[in-house]
Amino acid sequence: MPYENQRATGESLIALQQSALFQEFAGRIRAPEVEAVDPLLPTDIPRSSSEINRIVAIDGSLVTETLKDGFPGAEASLVQLALVYVDLRKLQTKAETKIIPPRAFNEMDTAHTLQAVLPGRNVVREDGLPPRDYFRASVFEALQGKVVAHGHETLLETYEILVSGRDTPFKCPHCDAPTLPSTGRSTCSHCDGELLSTDQLRFHERFNETGPNGEPHGEVMRFLEIVLLLNVLRYFLSSDAAIRVLPDIAFVLDGPLAAFGQFASVAPRVKAELRRIHEECVRRTGRGLLLFSLIKTGQFVEHFEQIDFDREKGPGRYFTEQSALLPSINYIHRNIVYRPSNAKEWGKDTYFGRMVLYKSKTGQKMVVNTPMTSEQADDLSDVSLAAYPRLGDALTIVDRLSTYLFEGGFVPIVRAHSHAAIPLKLGGEILKSLFEEDV
Ligand SMILES: [Zn+2]
Repeated sequence: MPYENQRATGESLIALQQSALFQEFAGRIRAPEVEAVDPLLPTDIPRSSSEINRIVAIDGSLVTETLKDGFPGAEASLVQLALVYVDLRKLQTKAETKIIPPRAFNEMDTAHTLQAVLPGRNVVREDGLPPRDYFRASVFEALQGKVVAHGHETLLETYEILVSGRDTPFKCPHCDAPTLPSTGRSTCSHCDGELLSTDQLRFHERFNETGPNGEPHGEVMRFLEIVLLLNVLRYFLSSDAAIRVLPDIAFVLDGPLAAFGQFASVAPRVKAELRRIHEECVRRTGRGLLLFSLIKTGQFVEHFEQIDFDREKGPGRYFTEQSALLPSINYIHRNIVYRPSNAKEWGKDTYFGRMVLYKSKTGQKMVVNTPMTSEQADDLSDVSLAAYPRLGDALTIVDRLSTYLFEGGFVPIVRAHSHAAIPLKLGGEILKSLFEEDV
């Protein structure tokens, strides 16, 4: 992605618009269809009376550094994932105070972090393993971590369950021969090279031997976040005591509920697993999973800014506070992400979340994703409430915390992020404590 300041601004933009070539180009662009499109109107979202006070936020951070002692130009990224539990009952608020003292948060949340170092170009392991293979090994090893104690599965086990039964061949990273996915460590039948169960995601194929590796490293971080989410959710299915509180906990992620790039191929698996967990939760507790993510930038947020314009009152005044807009796939194709009419639906292969444009109680505009855990949610033309499970509860939480939504984002996410940025000791029993507390 281009950096923000790489975009044309000021004088260079004027020069661009005046250039004959640019005008010729503009003349060749097809104008939007004049066919009338129904404007997006707010949908009334019923709110439930039960109060959700527990939030589990998952967020990763990534810092890439040049290694001083390595080969010239050697780079590595430190990935840190944080799992933060926020107890809103401990959040003491005064009506007029918008800034919470940092100490209040320290008393309010507990965190777990998971760290991994991903090598970039020019980094050779002690035993001579070259950079790309070192990167492959690091992805596999990052999954050895365990966030939930007490005999719960490792992240690797969660991942291998997620991809079990996949039979799409991929190229052996050593000899390029077509290879079938395997579990754990195994050996290539063609070249005897070591294969890892994570090789099938082919992160290593994007590894850049000569340039920066921010993109593959970022994809690995996002992948780890999703595996961590599933790992934690699966933990709640493991006992009756745990599943009893599952519907009373809000799980919050930063960024879209989607899988892009090399691991996009597992997006349908993630969707199916979330739906299975949701359905089992409904079967055993009568209520479903409360999961959502928040998106602060991108095309949907920009579109929301554009349509929130009142001819008389000006920008930001068209929609009232607490307006929720549910765009159908038709609306999305015509107004937000262009797709020819015969093209595949936008996001069909990568997303496991539905888009909700929401203006909070305090007027902030954001995009909320709710998971596609129902048949209605799977049908992108369906904008009935059944397509957005527990949306009312999600929006209530956003409202309760929207006083504290600031530049840096949503409080639990900011907290997760700050924890992700501070190395903490692994271990502890955060999730166990969740269901041992009084409800
Ligand atoms: Zn091979």
